[in-house]
Amino acid sequence: MAEEMQINPQRAKHLAENLASISSRIKAVSPAGKQVRLIAVSKLKPAADILALHQPASAPPHLHFGENYVQELIEKSRLLPRSIRWHFIGGLQSNKCKQLAEQIPNLWCVSSVDSDKKATLLDKGRGALLEATQQQAQDQQQDEAADKLRVMVQVNTSGEADKSGVEPGDALALCRHVVDACPHLQLLGLMTIGAIARSQATTAENENEDFVCLRDTRDRVAKEMGWGEERLELSMGMSADFEGAIGLGSDEVRVGSEIFGERPAKRDAVV
Ligand SMILES: *Cc1c(COP(=O)(O)O)cnc(C)c1O
Repeated sequence: MAEEMQINPQRAKHLAENLASISSRIKAVSPAGKQVRLIAVSKLKPAADILALHQPASAPPHLHFGENYVQELIEKSRLLPRSIRWHFIGGLQSNKCKQLAEQIPNLWCVSSVDSDKKATLLDKGRGALLEATQQQAQDQQQDEAADKLRVMVQVNTSGEADKSGVEPGDALALCRHVVDACPHLQLLGLMTIGAIARSQATTAENENEDFVCLRDTRDRVAKEMGWGEERLELSMGMSADFEGAIGLGSDEVRVGSEIFGERPAKRDAVV
């Protein structure tokens, strides 16, 4: 468990410096008064790295961490403190949805919902978790119950065949399904990854078309649903392009390699 985990002090210091540097770069490009959420993407990195940032020696704890693989996330969530807010940001498989939503009480958001079916399965999983925790809460005469599970609809803004996500024109229907038919889910916003080439060409001056597309899609979906735009967040921006994404209105950036360094191959990763 977390108490026994070995944290190398030098590694911890290095990670804390990287995180502080990303945080200040985020702050430098954020509109005044806006808090852009930073998800530290820890996939394929050891649990001790996460603990080092979540329980640092001399800084506030970092709360939001992102993972791409269901099994790895379940394993890490069991080893690490419940105070972590986990984000599942990877490609979502239908046969893993229920497990994902049911087995991780501190799963804060699933960012990669791309079909009605997967939304419904996540809803069922979260419903089962809520039922179990309500039973427990009653048994212990507490009325603490886990929250709704936040979800984001992933949009394939680049039209690449190998990217997951709904077509921009199909985002509204999926958002409606989440809101109308999934009582245990809360629609938080829209997410995109985007094309690598566009992300590499992103600078403060050079607008990334994927990010413009996600923003336009959000504006349209919000309008159709009769919501204010601010009710639907934008999750866009990674290590290579988060500053440009914030310039285009991102509410949440997902940064991995700039914090944790290059990732090992999946087969070589150790939790
Ligand atoms: C891996 C990953 C990231 C982080 O990528 P970096 O380039 O390492 O910052 C962000 N979002 C998603 C969906 C990812 O899979």
